[in-house]
Amino acid sequence: MTKNQTLYDLAIIGGGINGCGIAADAAGRGLKVYLCEKNDLASGTSSMSSKLIHGGLRYLEHYEFRLVKESLAEREVMLAKAPHLVTPLKFTLPHRPHLRPAWMIRAGLFLYDNLTRRNSLPKAKSIEFNVKTSVLTDEITKGFEYFDCWTDDARLVVSNAVQARDKGAHIHVYTEATSIQFDQQDKVWIVELRHKLTQKTTQICARHIINAAGPWLNQLYEAAISEQKAPRNIRLIKGSHLIIKRDGEGDSAFILQNKDKRIVFVLPYLNDFLIIGTTDKEYQGKLDNIQIDEQEQDYLLDIYNQHFKRQLSSSDIVSSYSGVRPLCDDESNDPSAITRDYTIEMQTIDGKNALISIYGGKITTYRKLGEAVLKHLHPFYPSLRGPWTATQPLPGVKQLNEPFENILSAVAARCSFLNDATVNRYARSYGHLAELFLKGAINTKALGINFGADLYQAEVDYLIRFEWAFSADDILWRRTKLGLKLNAEEQKNLDKYVKSAVMNMN
Ligand SMILES: Cc1cc2nc3c(=O)[nH]c(=O)nc-3n(C[C@H](O)[C@H](O)[C@H](O)COP(=O)(O)OP(=O)(O)OC[C@H]3O[C@@H](n4cnc5c(N)ncnc54)[C@H](O)[C@@H]3O)c2cc1C
Repeated sequence: MTKNQTLYDLAIIGGGINGCGIAADAAGRGLKVYLCEKNDLASGTSSMSSKLIHGGLRYLEHYEFRLVKESLAEREVMLAKAPHLVTPLKFTLPHRPHLRPAWMIRAGLFLYDNLTRRNSLPKAKSIEFNVKTSVLTDEITKGFEYFDCWTDDARLVVSNAVQARDKGAHIHVYTEATSIQFDQQDKVWIVELRHKLTQKTTQICARHIINAAGPWLNQLYEAAISEQKAPRNIRLIKGSHLIIKRDGEGDSAFILQNKDKRIVFVLPYLNDFLIIGTTDKEYQGKLDNIQIDEQEQDYLLDIYNQHFKRQLSSSDIVSSYSGVRPLCDDESNDPSAITRDYTIEMQTIDGKNALISIYGGKITTYRKLGEAVLKHLHPFYPSLRGPWTATQPLPGVKQLNEPFENILSAVAARCSFLNDATVNRYARSYGHLAELFLKGAINTKALGINFGADLYQAEVDYLIRFEWAFSADDILWRRTKLGLKLNAEEQKNLDKYVKSAVMNMN
C-alpha cells in the first residue's frame, strides 16, 4: 500500500442488486465503500429476472417458510421505500384439477396471505371465468386471484447505486477486479482493477472484501483471490423469458401450472408486451452472453398455448432474455427445487480482515441480505450505526409510503407537453429525480434530440452524467427498456451520440 492510496473499509466486487444494496447500506452507516462492476450495473443476473418482488408462492411446496415469510415482509418494505419502482400486480391462477387440487391451492394462498403480519395487498379469492370473454381456453372455467408485486429490476439496482453514491460510496463501472491479494505487511487487501474501456489498470486497498459477483462468484474466488476451493459449491441454473406482443390479455399477470410441477408466469410488460417465463436448467456454458435455447423456447410457448385461446408460434417472439441464478448448492436433483435463499460465507485473516462471499438470494431479499452482511461486519466496527434501510426511501421518493400519484403529478407538472405514457415512464423510472432533467423545459424542443419513442437528449445526458451509462445498450436495455421500441436506425443514432458524449465527458 502506498502513501497516496485511499484505504476503503469495504471493496465490493459486483454491481448487481446484492453488491449495490450492500454498498448503499454500508455507506449509509458511515463505512468507506468502493464498488467495482466489470460491465454495466445490473448487466448480470439482476436485469434478467422475472422482475417480481414476491414471497414466491411455489416455494411453499418446498417448505421454504423462512424465505417466503421474509420475502413477503420485504414486499411491504419495498412498496413503502420505492412506490415508483415496486407496484402491486394482480395474478390470475387458472385451476387445472389434474395438476393440483383446489383445496391445496386454497390452503397455499391462505398461508401466503397470512404468513406475514403486515400485508397491505388484497387477499386471494376464487374466481370463475366467463367462457365467452375469457382469454383462457374453454376448459378453464375456474381459478384464483391473488396479489404480488412487480419491479423494474435493473432500475432498482441503479437506484441503490445512486443511494450508495449519495452516502459517499465510490462506484466504478466497466472496472474488473482481476486480482485480490492480502498484503501481510500492511494488513489490507489489495485489489487490482482493469478499466475495460481504457484498458488502464489501477489498485485500491480495503480492510474487507465482499464478493458479490453473482454467477462469477466462485470463478473470481478461485482465479483472483485464492488458489483454494471456494467455501461453497455454486449451482448455475439458467432461466429464460420470451417477450411477445400483448393481445387482449389485460392487466392481470397469470401464473400457469405445468405437468412437470413447475409454474410459468405471463406478465404484462411496458403496456404493449408480455413476458413469459421462466425455465430452470442446469447451466455449464460461458457466463457472458447467455442465450435462450430452442427447447426452452418450445417449453414456454407450449405452456402458454395449453392455457390461452390465442396460440403462439416462434414468429410471435419479439425478444427474449436469459440469466443464471447463482444458487448455493444444496445437492438437490431438481434445478427448480434448489433453495433460492441466500447464504453468506465469511472467512477472515487472523480474525481481522474479512472476505465475505454471497451465494444465492433474490432481488426481493437484497435489502435483508445487505443487513445480514453488515451484521457480519459489526464485530470489526463496534460503534457502527444500526440498520436504516427499511425506513429510508430510495432516491426519487420524498418520504416513506409517498403515494405514487404524488410523484406522478409532480413529474407531470414539469412536462405537461408530453404524452401520458412518457410522463408515466419518467415517474416510474426516476421518481422525483426526473425533475432534474425536466426542469425549465417548456416544450419538447427544450429536451433536445428525440432519439425515438420519446427518448430525449435531456434524459440521455442525465443517464450519462448521473447514472453511469456508457453505451447505447446501457440506456436501451437497463436504464430504460426502450430497446424494444427504437428501430435499428434510431439505435445507431443513439449509439453515435452516447459515444461522443462519453468522450467529451472524459
Ligand atoms: C431467470 C431468473 C428469474 C428470476 N426472477 C426473480 C424474481 O422474479 N424475483 C426475485 O426476487 N429474484 C429473481 N431472480 C433472482 C435474482 O435475479 C438474483 O438472485 C439476483 O439478481 C442476483 O444478484 P447478484 O447481485 O448476486 O448477481 P448479479 O446481478 O449477477 O451481479 C453480479 C455482478 O458481478 C459482476 N462481476 C463479476 N465478476 C466481476 C469482477 N471480477 N469484477 C467486477 N465485477 C464483476 C457481474 O458483471 C455482475 O454484474 C431470478 C433469477 C433468474 C436467473
